[in-house]
Amino acid sequence: RAKKSGRARWQFFDDTMHSQAMDRLTIEDEIRISLTKGDFVVYYQPIVALLDRSTVGYEALVRWQHPVRGLLAPADFLPIAEESRLILGIDRFVLDQVCSVLAADPHGTTTISVNVSAVDLAHESWAETFTSTLRNHGVDPSRLIVEVTETAVLSLRPSTTGSLDAVRDLGVGLHVDDFGTGFSSISLLRDLPVTGLKLDASFVAGLGDDNRGVDALAAGLAGLVAHLDLTGVAEGIETETQAQTLLSQGWLHGQGYLFGKPAPWPGQKRPAR
Ligand code: C2E
Ligand code: MG
Ligand code: MG
Ligand code: MG
Repeated sequence: RAKKSGRARWQFFDDTMHSQAMDRLTIEDEIRISLTKGDFVVYYQPIVALLDRSTVGYEALVRWQHPVRGLLAPADFLPIAEESRLILGIDRFVLDQVCSVLAADPHGTTTISVNVSAVDLAHESWAETFTSTLRNHGVDPSRLIVEVTETAVLSLRPSTTGSLDAVRDLGVGLHVDDFGTGFSSISLLRDLPVTGLKLDASFVAGLGDDNRGVDALAAGLAGLVAHLDLTGVAEGIETETQAQTLLSQGWLHGQGYLFGKPAPWPGQKRPAR
């Protein structure tokens, strides 16, 4: 503790810590209220085939329609939602919304990807809840993809792989998100029942930056994806040049503002409570 450094300093830290704790509790309460009021919204961003730009799927990305602060992106509330484990409720809501979109188009072939956090994976009944949500909506599991980051998986191995195995066994896809940003991305491909990977946007942004070898890395990873018979999605594509380069390297699917920004599903109603 900071006691020794004098009264004034102690007071300073104490006040700061106090106000941070207050903030956190307020935000947690607001998340709880918003979950019951239906203030969370799911946005969908298209994932396209780079060859003909046709839409092959969507990624579901949560937004918080905050009563005072307006529309908030995950960066503004995910850390607190994860630490408080309120993310469990948010992600249940997202999956429910996604399943209702899929159920409304029973003969469609587009997939929808959902992000799951380490908290979900560690929760003993996450896989069970996931499974029953799909069943209740009558959704074909092969139209869903779960996206996990390396950090999420590494933070709780080996208990995580059980829940991922369970949803994979249903026929749900499993993509490693932000691929290439961690230290052991490659070993995840060996240890998890992965069906695809998403090349992190930082690689896409770095294309053409020859002296850093980004082009060679992106091309090499495209080869790895093909050899392992995985689905490869390049993230954060903003320019035509990036799209062309990635396609020529062998990346078949892409996602980014060039093709479409995340937006609400047309006509999806917020759950009434
Ligand atoms: P992510 O899964 O890697 O999602 C991609 C992020 O990149 C999204 O940010 C998306 O809006 C953004 N993006 C897409 N195309 C472009 C582009 O061309 N340029 C730029 N600059 N950005 C682009 P978003 O929606 O803010 O989400 C951030 C992260 O929050 C996600 O990263 C994911 O890890 C997490 N997340 C989002 N929704 C959920 C959710 O429902 N549950 C959980 N547990 N996590 C979520
Ligand atoms: Mg994702
Ligand atoms: Mg990503
Ligand atoms: Mg990310």
